[in-house]
Amino acid sequence: MHRYDEATDELARAVFGYALDRVRMDPPPLDGTRSDRELAAAAGPTVTPHGIGGLAALRIFTDVLAPATLSQDHPRNLSFVPTAPTEAAVLFDLVVGASSIFGGSWLEGAGAVHAENEALRWLADLAGFPARSGGTFVSGGSAGNLSGLVTARHTARRLRAGPAPQRWTIAASGGVHSSVRAAALVMDVDVVAVPVDERGRLTGAALGARLDVLSPDERDGLFAVVATGGTTNVGVVDDLAGVAEVCGEWGLWFHVDAAYGGAALVAPSARWRFAGIERADSFVIDPHKWLFAPYDCAALLYRNPELALATHTQHAEYLDVLHDGQDGHASAHARGDPSEPPNPSDLAFHLTRRVRGLPFWFSLATHGTDAYRDAVETTLATARGAVRLVDRRPYLELVIEPELSVVVVRRLGWAPSDYHEWSRSLLARGIAFCAPTTLHGETVIRLCIVNPRTTPDDLALIFDSMA
Ligand SMILES: *Cc1c(COP(=O)(O)O)cnc(C)c1O
Repeated sequence: MHRYDEATDELARAVFGYALDRVRMDPPPLDGTRSDRELAAAAGPTVTPHGIGGLAALRIFTDVLAPATLSQDHPRNLSFVPTAPTEAAVLFDLVVGASSIFGGSWLEGAGAVHAENEALRWLADLAGFPARSGGTFVSGGSAGNLSGLVTARHTARRLRAGPAPQRWTIAASGGVHSSVRAAALVMDVDVVAVPVDERGRLTGAALGARLDVLSPDERDGLFAVVATGGTTNVGVVDDLAGVAEVCGEWGLWFHVDAAYGGAALVAPSARWRFAGIERADSFVIDPHKWLFAPYDCAALLYRNPELALATHTQHAEYLDVLHDGQDGHASAHARGDPSEPPNPSDLAFHLTRRVRGLPFWFSLATHGTDAYRDAVETTLATARGAVRLVDRRPYLELVIEPELSVVVVRRLGWAPSDYHEWSRSLLARGIAFCAPTTLHGETVIRLCIVNPRTTPDDLALIFDSMA
């Protein structure tokens, strides 16, 4: 089965043909979900002792399986956080797949890791991070938040003089992403919830006031604060400067979860909202959300990557040649030159890693950072324009003025079931995918705009369908 023959060549053309057709589609079909039973009946058995052949498998994918997946890059797919990879990024994903690059070590992946680091440097500079900062690409914001917080706790543990606390604890707003609570569960740490302001933001004042009334045990075990650079539900940015101030006073690790919103650092019209992110100890941005990279691609950056290396480096007999300063296979960084890049594996909770930052890098290199600025500004302008579209429709009401690219709208007179029925029907008709959300217990509609191809006309179509 490992051979390149005529049949493989035919398969290659068919696979590239499919990929090219998909990349050319503007827009792609929205498609829809099917039940497992329907899929089993339509696809038939596919994993068999003798194989069904590549062309047959590709046909099943093309005709049955792919249409049962939603196109996340459809301009009217505005649910959750969709995606809008550039053609350049998608095409380069094929190259990454073809290249069998191990992205974990400098030894094995130097050329690719160098390029990934160029892309990370751009993000670090956008945030105002120092020259010595650095990081790696992980699978998503969830993995980034976990790895950042594990580094924070390990650092606190190392710096601590007295006995270990009863419980390790982080502080975060009630609006923090579910993945932060999931990370706390994995780490078995407690979360102190800090009340948010009327817009749903964590402020330095509220954080300080909450920390002042911690129990002695909570105070003893507190090691980090998580602020959000663009909440996923409504897209508001916490008071990062105020939170940074309190973290400084209390000697706490300051982690910024900017998985969704961090892309707006590149947009002059929104950059000011992130003032204070330059004081973070670590932050996360998902290029697979709003920076036009294919799944899965999340950037995790540390102010001081040495702290992450001290936390995440895995030691094993067969791996130690990568770290041992005596050995010829160790990177220059491992041999004591901190100006050379470390092994990406050692910066997060992972070992083997795809060089998932490369499609993002290729697209950045292709188009230039100004094009990224303009594309993010386009989505921001579309979101701001939605306010006027809502104002013109008496049956709609804006729930919160958009700060970034999430638009939250109330349909006057609708019960929750009306929202759900409307949303189902739009998807079933292949028009749009707009899942409702809840805010303070109220069901509302939430549109998350990360696709520069989403136009005001798309939004008008969606709003008109609620009349
Ligand atoms: C999406 C999101 C996450 C989780 O990121 P994944 O890439 O889905 O793992 C975390 N935090 C915020 C604010 C997000 O928007």
